[in-house]
Amino acid sequence: MENKKIIIGNWKMNPRSLKEAEKLFGAIVKNISSIKKTEIVICPPFLYLEKLKKISKKIILGAQDAFPGEVGAFTGEISAEMLYNIGARYVILGHSEKRALGETNEMVNKKIKASFFAGLRPILCVGERARDLSHGYFNFVKIQLEECLAGISKNSISKIIIAYEPIWAISSTPDRKDAIPADSLEMAIFIRKILSDKFGSDAGRVRIIYGGSVNEKDAEDFLQNGGVDGLLPGKASLDAKKFVEIIKICEALNQ
Ligand code: PEP
Repeated sequence: MENKKIIIGNWKMNPRSLKEAEKLFGAIVKNISSIKKTEIVICPPFLYLEKLKKISKKIILGAQDAFPGEVGAFTGEISAEMLYNIGARYVILGHSEKRALGETNEMVNKKIKASFFAGLRPILCVGERARDLSHGYFNFVKIQLEECLAGISKNSISKIIIAYEPIWAISSTPDRKDAIPADSLEMAIFIRKILSDKFGSDAGRVRIIYGGSVNEKDAEDFLQNGGVDGLLPGKASLDAKKFVEIIKICEALNQ
């Protein structure tokens, strides 16, 4: 079966309380009963997962990180298996905000393997800090893909989602700039080529999505002209009205 288009909300370290998380989640759930063709995922902070899971089956839950190994003596960590057991089915890995705290491609690779082992689907984030005139940013993303996906089998690859998130366009970046669908399109084509060189025809089923300040105003343009199978809004996913609008735009394009 062909993979559905997908909208993934990355709540990051928001909101401040479980009560607010339930309210936001509930407001989204209330307005998506007509959605049939779009896969909806929300990645809240770990500690809200269990409660949100009970509110709706329509939204699939994801985590924002996972430990690169199995359970054991690792203070403060949360394993992929624990996340699966609590109801998460996706996990964001290699996000630029984690990489800024020291996460390397090698660590992301271990996290991807641990996540697959536990049954979670990784959402692998890649993206350059800045664009240079000599196009070195393509090579930067190529290295991220090669190192993060080292040793991943052809059988597993179709389960992964690649999120192209240029750091210069993400809302938390000081002096951020707007990306346009052409930026996403050229990188999506490039990512697809890297994947097909490495994994052959299985790479055709990998969903490539775009994230970087995407919102209800430019979602249609990115979905139609950005060469992607979905979107990963951060800030806009914290506003139920905006997030639902993005989902409905995606659904309408799939009719
Ligand atoms: C993100 O960092 O995953 C993201 C897409 O955030 P925002 O939409 O806020 O730029």
